[in-house]
Amino acid sequence: MSTIEQRRILSTAIPGPRSEELHRRKAATVSAGVGVGLPVYVERAGGGILVDADGNQLIDFGSGIAVTTVGNAAPHVVERVQQQVDDFTHTCFMVTPYAEYLDVCEQLNELTPGDHDKRSALFNSGAEAVENAVKIARHYTGRQAVVAFDHGYHGRTNLTMALTAKNMPYKHKFGPFAGEIYRVPASYPFRWPGGPADCAKESLDVVTTMIHAQVGEENCAAVILEPIQGEGGFIVPAPGFVKSLAEWCAEHGIVFIADEVQTGFCRTGDWFASEHEEVVPDLITTAKGIAGGLPLAGVTGRAEIMDAIHASGLGGTYGGNPVACAAALGAIETMKEEDLATRARQVEAIFLPRLRALAERYPQIGDIRGRGAMLAIELVNGGGDLTPASELTATVNRNCHAEGLVTLTCGTYGNVFRFLPPLSASDELLTEGLDIFEAAFEKAAG
Ligand SMILES: *Cc1c(COP(=O)(O)O)cnc(C)c1O
Repeated sequence: MSTIEQRRILSTAIPGPRSEELHRRKAATVSAGVGVGLPVYVERAGGGILVDADGNQLIDFGSGIAVTTVGNAAPHVVERVQQQVDDFTHTCFMVTPYAEYLDVCEQLNELTPGDHDKRSALFNSGAEAVENAVKIARHYTGRQAVVAFDHGYHGRTNLTMALTAKNMPYKHKFGPFAGEIYRVPASYPFRWPGGPADCAKESLDVVTTMIHAQVGEENCAAVILEPIQGEGGFIVPAPGFVKSLAEWCAEHGIVFIADEVQTGFCRTGDWFASEHEEVVPDLITTAKGIAGGLPLAGVTGRAEIMDAIHASGLGGTYGGNPVACAAALGAIETMKEEDLATRARQVEAIFLPRLRALAERYPQIGDIRGRGAMLAIELVNGGGDLTPASELTATVNRNCHAEGLVTLTCGTYGNVFRFLPPLSASDELLTEGLDIFEAAFEKAAG
């Protein structure tokens, strides 16, 4: 457990004077293109607390965007990283390899859905994993087209910008984008014309009809889907959609890629969100929660697909860096020892009743969704009017920040308020955070 006392302490305004001074330095030194959600400068973190430069202790409901699932500076991660930096820091796996890379790949092959023969490859970021999954699917199938979804988010590199749906801030004036990317409607029960029941009945048909008419199955290398859409608004597809889509892909020789960069590694109450959907993806991309905060990403998939690539077709200087691998082994060890998948379900059980009670009182909470410790509310005008309440969402977020609760929003329309607490946060701390959130919401919604 973290040595940091697990409670909120506010000794200055948020942000405090030291953070403000650092933020002035940021303006003079860092590209304006690198935005900051809450300009408190962090000095230490652990459990569910971030300690800032002014000595404030903030409650963390963001985990650095679903990364520090095992907690910040988690003990097993720290031990293994310290040992590894003592031993060696880099050789480049493609030059002279090391066992830690194999250890991580073995874990990925074992923990991802399906008991078929698998292989993995390691990279540095989620976007890089997605790029490689697309490269692999194209090479294996000899086809070019890739289908992605409305509200999808897959990264900020050129190919992944093309896969990502939202213009601002991710794509605006950054084109031209990579070719042969096709976008189809998301299975989005809350906003499906006709409502959730129609969504369940219709979304597969809409998607496959569109692919057939506009792409042609035989041209289609891959369909890439987040089993719960992350940045796009924590959208949980209609029941059965993911499974039937994966089956349809299999019928047509299309590689089904589950982008589990945000949903993976116990976040949703299982090792991977595909498990809830009873889906065994052909390829699965991982990053974020995999290594307790160090940059690491993976592509894991069917051996015949992963092994179809010519030698040296995949790789990169830092991919599977030994320190990042050591961190991943520490993070995975923690997830197993502490059964963090179960912990994520407990987090859901703490959050949902509170969110439902708030929704009883506020019609602006149009939808409550997500799984495990990946939960969100979608804010709308209310009273049957589903117009996105983006202003309200931003105000709630600001109110939370001012009270020392680190929160995140998301959604194509910026009207989704999301909860991604570290699974190392105690029940008491989560409850304290929920109290702050509730007050922040009431203050904003009136
Ligand atoms: C964050 C994210 C990515 C991109 O990961 P980076 O490490 O930021 O490159 C890709 N896919 C999903 C689903 C994500 O949430």
